[in-house]
Amino acid sequence: MAKNQGTPGEFDLIARYFAPLAEAEDGAFGLTDDTAVLKGPSAQNDLVVTTDTMVEGVHFPAETRPEDVAAKLLAVNLSDIASMGAVPRHYTLAAALPDPVDEDWIARFAKSLAKEQQRFDVVLAGGDTVSTPGPLTLTLTTLGTVETGRALRRAGAQAGDAIWLSGTLGDAAFGLLARRNSLGNVTPEDRNALVARLDRPTPRLNLGRRLRSTGLAHAAIDVSDGVVADLGHLCEASGTGAVIDAGNLPLSDAATRILEDQPGLLDTVLAGGDDYELLFATAPDADSAIRALSEDLALPLTRIGRMHDDQADGTPRVRVLKDDGTDVTPAGGGWRHF
Ligand code: ADP
Ligand code: MG
Repeated sequence: MAKNQGTPGEFDLIARYFAPLAEAEDGAFGLTDDTAVLKGPSAQNDLVVTTDTMVEGVHFPAETRPEDVAAKLLAVNLSDIASMGAVPRHYTLAAALPDPVDEDWIARFAKSLAKEQQRFDVVLAGGDTVSTPGPLTLTLTTLGTVETGRALRRAGAQAGDAIWLSGTLGDAAFGLLARRNSLGNVTPEDRNALVARLDRPTPRLNLGRRLRSTGLAHAAIDVSDGVVADLGHLCEASGTGAVIDAGNLPLSDAATRILEDQPGLLDTVLAGGDDYELLFATAPDADSAIRALSEDLALPLTRIGRMHDDQADGTPRVRVLKDDGTDVTPAGGGWRHF
């Protein structure tokens, strides 16, 4: 949610202070896409690069299992790689550790990384390890490749395009509420399923790759800050507006039960974040191709809305409408650090 009204937000800080440093590199896209796409070592491939940081107490509570921290740190990075339709190859790890070092924690963290790097076929290539007087802070940078000039960008969606989303929405945000014991009535099974989606997101690498190789997606982004906010980023890059049909949002069984019980939590589904699903735009007549792809990948792909021309008249770029036309767009936008 938006915080600290009046002070510059995360995206203002990036645009004002860091984007100018990236001006000489077209492939940095003014720091407005999920990864940079740089000239690679060969003519066939571009290099993609993305970084994420996780801070104890901000991104995960201190009692989170180190296995989960490791898996999520890699997964959130790979989610950005997936959204570009790229293949991850190597990663680097910078670890700022409180002194004295908790070696058991590090051992479990490393063991989990070993498992995950094998699962996704990536290899650690370097990093840095330092002590910090602050909280445990982990930064992971992934390097990957994509066929030259073929990366899926946030830009490229057109008015009339269909908007699609992988998987289900809102589980992680509900998992966070459940972990904080502020979800109300929820069965232990539902609670576990939701918390698992919070702790162990699945990067949709195969989907990203297939969207790129088939040419079906005009634009794509991974949903990390909430679907309304991230679709907003895609619209901004594409110069379009969008409508999401609230009735078509893909919900897990657990999330469906929660919303039936507490309809007011729709905002949490729309703006909660941490979903790490892919959102993409296709031509309006791509339904059968997308359904075939969904079956092939055994991954739900749901048509959630459509693009329209940017109205540039003060209406929000992204609106969420119920079947009867009621506007249920969340007021606060998505997750922001500042
Ligand atoms: P995502 O949610 O896809 O990981 P972010 O919202 O964190 O992306 O960042 C938006 C864009 O700004 C990305 O292109 C990212 O690489 C860039 N960015 C964020 N912080 C910095 C920074 N300190 N220096 C350079 N680029 C940055
Ligand atoms: Mg992203």
